[in-house]
Amino acid sequence: MPNVEKTEEEWKKELTPEEYRVLRESGTEAPWKGAFVDNHETGMYSCKACGANLFSSDTKFDSKSGWPSFTDAAVAENVGTRSDDALGMHRTEVFCKNCGGHLGHLFDDGPVEAGGKRYCINSVSLAFEKEGEQKTDAS
Ligand SMILES: [Zn+2]
Repeated sequence: MPNVEKTEEEWKKELTPEEYRVLRESGTEAPWKGAFVDNHETGMYSCKACGANLFSSDTKFDSKSGWPSFTDAAVAENVGTRSDDALGMHRTEVFCKNCGGHLGHLFDDGPVEAGGKRYCINSVSLAFEKEGEQKTDAS
């Protein structure tokens, strides 16, 4: 069970419509439109919904897919995977274990030298904290 449990009404109040669509309804943002696709800053990516640390810039790579991509989770206990057979495709969903929010999908076409995994994550599901700076709340 996720640590953070809120009603859908509560999530709707806290998240923007696009964040809600992706995080709570397993939506996907348009490729190349996300805020972090070309972010090369050093720091930590956390869950936009609950703030749990998820991915580090250390494992971010330029996948040319149009979404922020990582070879591994930074905090393994916060990043869960489960099979997703929606849309007639067999894929592996990536979700935040802390709140159950949808993050993206996991593929096996990542850089071989880094383990071959590609965590393909929606920017809208993430908040970014640049190393050495306090987390800024955009809202
Ligand atoms: Zn979360």
